[in-house]
Amino acid sequence: MALLKIVRYPDPVLLAVGRPVADESFANGLGKTVEEMFETMYAAGGVGLAAPQVGLSQRFFVMDVPLENGEPDRRVFVNPEILHAEGEQVGDEGCLSFPGLYQTVERNMRVIVRAQDVSGNDFEADLEGLAARCVLHETDHCDGIVFLDRMTVLKREMAKRKIKRLQKTGKWE
Ligand SMILES: [Zn+2]
Repeated sequence: MALLKIVRYPDPVLLAVGRPVADESFANGLGKTVEEMFETMYAAGGVGLAAPQVGLSQRFFVMDVPLENGEPDRRVFVNPEILHAEGEQVGDEGCLSFPGLYQTVERNMRVIVRAQDVSGNDFEADLEGLAARCVLHETDHCDGIVFLDRMTVLKREMAKRKIKRLQKTGKWE
């Protein structure tokens, strides 16, 4: 199975609002794309990967935030919609489209999200902690929002300077 190319910030596809996944897509290759995205995400050492990050301006993402016992927890969210978010968590966040950049981002501690699975069936998930952070981060990608946009002004300026340095030294390609 071929790995997909992960696009880097500031590729315009990362800043565009993704199109909803249409009903016919579920029968036409969505499953294959999802498998390729999982493989690409695992190869890159990430816990989440959204369609815009592989150049597809569409609303879906894959994630695998391992369970407490270390078991994998593969999940696919198509046309995700945050129904409820509460609480706060502050922690470092990274993104496969921002290689080498980790920065503090405040997120909700708990989310309830509605989405469709890879077959088009509706489901709801109630998630906390890192899984909630990941759902919020990846749903943002579907909306053309990157984690830079969620940082405080100070952290964003620090992040932008670091990106410039990485670009200059060729570590951003
Ligand atoms: Zn990301």
